[in-house]
Amino acid sequence: MDQRLKQLLRIKCKEMGIPLMGVADVRCWENPPFQRWMPQEFFPHSIFPEALSVVVIGLPVQLPVLETSPSIYYREMYNVLNALLDQYSYRIAELLNNEGFSSIFVPRDGYGSIEVLLERPLAFFSHRHAAFCAGLGTFGVNNMILTPEYGPRVRFGSILTSAPLPADPLRDEELCTRCMRCVQMCPSSALSREDYPEGITDKTACASWSASLHRRHISPCGICIKVCPIGQDRVFYHREDPGIYEETRSESPYQHIWDHVRRYGGK
Ligand code: SF4
Ligand code: SF4
Repeated sequence: MDQRLKQLLRIKCKEMGIPLMGVADVRCWENPPFQRWMPQEFFPHSIFPEALSVVVIGLPVQLPVLETSPSIYYREMYNVLNALLDQYSYRIAELLNNEGFSSIFVPRDGYGSIEVLLERPLAFFSHRHAAFCAGLGTFGVNNMILTPEYGPRVRFGSILTSAPLPADPLRDEELCTRCMRCVQMCPSSALSREDYPEGITDKTACASWSASLHRRHISPCGICIKVCPIGQDRVFYHREDPGIYEETRSESPYQHIWDHVRRYGGK
């Protein structure tokens, strides 16, 4: 196992401003940590047979921007994060190639449009499962990966590499408190109260809602990651109380900001 190379990756991530990085062994996909797992064609070494490890990086979704969702503000941040993830993943893959280990990046979303998602609501690779195998977090009722640092407010990118990197341990403690805020506040009733993977998001309902927001130029939705109480970012931004998003709470100190942002840039 190449400890030196992993340390080099950590240094590079720090230099690039990437706060989260973990490494998964591809054997995690062959010996699934839970059932139902994915079909074999989605495994990293099915996509890149040389792969021994998957490097996963995570960038935070800034909570006060997300709070304005649905809005042009969150949409722009989402696009920026996607562009950065693609570029960082590509650069890390090239760094590994230059170190002598064949490597490729995986794009962050991997679908052409929401209409495509409505027909087939899957990408060819799951960054969420890669992040789980890389020990970055655990699944929540909202089907997202919850991290101690940012709760579910993280977007992930992955690099498939032939480098035999030391894997990070899976997290053994569940982070989801099953508060059900995500279920209650989902505007399309797409989430079930069951834990993942028993409770799978109704992807058609979620994508339909996203398509309606897209027509108004204010997709994606993001409510189920906004309202989740998990994550140190809530403390950092002084948003410990996720009750501020409840419609009955007219006294939210931020409501006038959200109203202002939502008036512009979309329909
Ligand atoms: S993104 Fe929105 S519509 Fe989709 S599951 Fe989350 S809250 Fe529901
Ligand atoms: S909002 Fe509550 S139930 Fe949903 S993922 Fe977060 S902690 Fe779990």
